[in-house]
Amino acid sequence: MDTNKPTIVYRYRDGLYVNLTNRCPTACVFCIKTAWKMDYRGSDLNLGGAEPAPAEIIALAKKEWEASQFRELVFCGFGEPTMRLEAMLACARLIRNGRAEPLPRNLRIRLNTNGLANAVWGRNVVPEMKGLIDSVHVSLNTADPAQWAALMRPMEPWAATGFEKVKEFIREAALLLPEAFATAVDSGDVDLEKFKELAARLGAEPRVRPRLEEEGKK
Ligand code: SF4
Repeated sequence: MDTNKPTIVYRYRDGLYVNLTNRCPTACVFCIKTAWKMDYRGSDLNLGGAEPAPAEIIALAKKEWEASQFRELVFCGFGEPTMRLEAMLACARLIRNGRAEPLPRNLRIRLNTNGLANAVWGRNVVPEMKGLIDSVHVSLNTADPAQWAALMRPMEPWAATGFEKVKEFIREAALLLPEAFATAVDSGDVDLEKFKELAARLGAEPRVRPRLEEEGKK
């Protein structure tokens, strides 16, 4: 095995994760990509700027499926998947159109995101995900806008309006997609009751998760 080759798809639990990009409009305080030196449980997720094409991703996913089936395809990785919105949707379309067999057309497809896609792309992109993405997990983290900015550390263009745009994204996802979760990292400083209330108001199911460092490298 070539250990220097960046990982484009990797297994975690019962999913196949897709590392679309290393670009991200935030620099979250709990992001483990620097602390873990771009390594995720033994996979080198540093793409070195060479972002994979949809055809390459699908070819790898098909190979993985043939080796051993997985329950869901997850766009995640060390970077924000929606920075490559078109590539992500193209992968999903290939699957849904039956052009990625033996991957089943109804394979569950999940997006883990910081929810800034509408802000980054300057339009509501959630309708474009309809019929393609089954589940979104949006890293909302808090009900407090100032704390959101402190935790997420968004790049300048999204510093002032980002929190509202993330809320808008969650609201839209809850309306249009089969499953929408708002997630929070349990950092100890967050009012989790207020976070859960906000998630519910936006129509999403709240989910609190431990910091990845505390889960341990498995
Ligand atoms: S959104 Fe994800 S990749 Fe981006 S900084 Fe936060 S944890 Fe890291």
